Amino acid sequence: MDFIWSPWRYDYVTSGGKRQGSCVFCLDKDPAGDPDRLVLFRGAHNFVILNLFPYTSGHLMVAPYAHIAALTDATPDQTAEMMTLAQRGVRALEHLYKPEGFNVGLNLGHAAGAGVRDHMHLHVVARWVGDTNFMSVLAETRVLPEELSTTYSRLKAVF
Ligand SMILES: [Zn+2]
Repeated sequence: MDFIWSPWRYDYVTSGGKRQGSCVFCLDKDPAGDPDRLVLFRGAHNFVILNLFPYTSGHLMVAPYAHIAALTDATPDQTAEMMTLAQRGVRALEHLYKPEGFNVGLNLGHAAGAGVRDHMHLHVVARWVGDTNFMSVLAETRVLPEELSTTYSRLKAVF
């Protein structure tokens, strides 16, 4: 596993084949599959999901249920709750991982580095001083600090 990351160029990647042909951010109505899909929380207009290939531990995303690409197409209810859920994510990550900073943002469009361009999603990434330097020292080899299933259980409990 060799990965090199830049949080604003990196996006959600599917596990391949499993949901071929469908949008990875369009959720089933039935929440039974949420643990498998790493869905942490369902709000009224948006949900919170872990990134399958986290930039740092607990890298999560907030996305609307609605399949919309443009921030300007989102309703005030959608955008307001998106930010509220981002706050919850930040609080949960502060509580669990004691990070030194955060990147919170949207990659909109191909030029901005969005991997999934037709369903907007807000990234919440915990940061530590030197975390990128650490990676380059490791000769472009990405070391995941924690198993995703562990991250999911810990964050699920806080959400
Ligand atoms: Zn979608």
